[in-house]
Amino acid sequence: MSLLQHVVVEARHSLADYAAEARLAPSVQELEAEASRLVPLLAGRTIWMVSSTAVGGGVAEMLPTQIAMLRDLGIRAEWVVIGSEEEEFFVLTKHLHNLVHGVGTPALDAGARALFERVNHANAEELRPLLAPNDVLVVHDPQPLPIASMLARSIPLVTVWRCHIGLDEENAATRAAWDFFAPWLDAYDHAVFSASEYIPPRLAGRASVIAPGIDPLSEKNAELSLHETVEALARGGLAAAPGPLLRAPFAAQASRAGDDGVFVPAATLEDIGLLTRPIVTQISRWDRLKGWLPLLNAFTALKRSSTDVAVAGNDPLQLRRLQLARLVLAGPDPGAVADDPEGLEVLGELRAAYAKLPPAVRRDVAFVALPMTSREENALMVNALQRASTIVVQNSRREGFGLTIAEAMWKRVPVLSNSRACGPRQQIRDGIDGRLIADPEDVHELCETMVAMLGDQDARERWGRSAQRRVQDRFVDTAQLRHWVQLLLRLPGLAPGARSRAEKEIRPAP
Ligand code: UDP
Repeated sequence: MSLLQHVVVEARHSLADYAAEARLAPSVQELEAEASRLVPLLAGRTIWMVSSTAVGGGVAEMLPTQIAMLRDLGIRAEWVVIGSEEEEFFVLTKHLHNLVHGVGTPALDAGARALFERVNHANAEELRPLLAPNDVLVVHDPQPLPIASMLARSIPLVTVWRCHIGLDEENAATRAAWDFFAPWLDAYDHAVFSASEYIPPRLAGRASVIAPGIDPLSEKNAELSLHETVEALARGGLAAAPGPLLRAPFAAQASRAGDDGVFVPAATLEDIGLLTRPIVTQISRWDRLKGWLPLLNAFTALKRSSTDVAVAGNDPLQLRRLQLARLVLAGPDPGAVADDPEGLEVLGELRAAYAKLPPAVRRDVAFVALPMTSREENALMVNALQRASTIVVQNSRREGFGLTIAEAMWKRVPVLSNSRACGPRQQIRDGIDGRLIADPEDVHELCETMVAMLGDQDARERWGRSAQRRVQDRFVDTAQLRHWVQLLLRLPGLAPGARSRAEKEIRPAP
């Protein structure tokens, strides 16, 4: 059985579709102008994207659109996903992921290195016959990092490592991760990070910054009318249908934790109230770094104070808002996320915390698992959930970028995040495009800010408008791809007759 999966990408939209949107037209024109210089240099070559999962998480979210846009520009692009039958590989890569974020035990032994090499070697050998000389290899994140050094020594390739994670400080954990990665970094011509703070010293001078982007026309972000929003929620089992529905329910329905924390079909429980109540939502992978527990605790504090007229500023409407408010904690069906072994554990912790909530608070918390069997249905549910939210929270302790933030901002939903994590503060200017708290673990600060945001409708509208504009200017896929095109144009390996770094500097095997 092969480990490597060649992902089929079907274009949902052409660049002309993006250009037809007035807000996106300038960005498409800029992209096409830059790309017209790159296309001849890439004639006969393919850009290979290599990642570790085809579903769940930011990388899987972005690659289909990027590949479709590249193809539309006249550039050959393909996507492969590495695989392993050894579960320990994903335990190790999750550990490495956490270390890059400065969390976890810094100990990594020779066994870990051997496992990392063995799995990547097996995948590299499956990828080798697909590659042609001078192809471009773009490797995403640490999981497949060694692949370039394993291939570029025997096939001339232009190699870029795209690291989507990072931390803006150094500690024993980050040092352990970067020491572990060191032997494989040299094979790359260039590296790309989401923020300059993430570039490790050993890559200085050969790394660039490209902000990720969202696809404004994807099922996840496309405009939904009121009808479509209600329909998507009802088809997914997230809201009771207020009348007969045009389309059939989704094949896989959302599930939701019952009082005991056990997941049951969401539609069998009391309606969440997405269509009428003030809704605070966080949608993320089940990852400890996403700050789920402090958010749950902050919302519990909000509910406890919701009878206090002073907390509501003596405003009866605000008092009513706080009383009606509900929290939605939503994430993927964990069985579907191949590279996230910690997910089950975090989900277990959350279930236990949920089951222990005072019953009156638990009623106001919807703990939701979204099926991942259909990318399109999942995206529609996320889209509708974000649109049904009064506030979207992304309480991550660490966040490489945080696509969920840009997604909500694009929909004019005000986002509450924190300035500790570099990704959120790159996107949100506090008090302009949303709100940033100082500390995601500070339950009091989080609770107070949620209360203040719920209480200020004018400010919410202002933040939402500004947020959408900011995403339009900086964080849409066309802008992201234009930066990629500019980078590729600068890479020496793409100039006619140039040789890649690996060819020039054959190094001993690590
Ligand atoms: N996501 C999703 N379904 C879920 C949970 C998350 O589609 O149940 C998506 C989310 O909308 C976003 C991506 O997964 O597009 C997460 O990317 P982000 O950069 O926020 O975090 P990462 O998972 O890469 O750490």
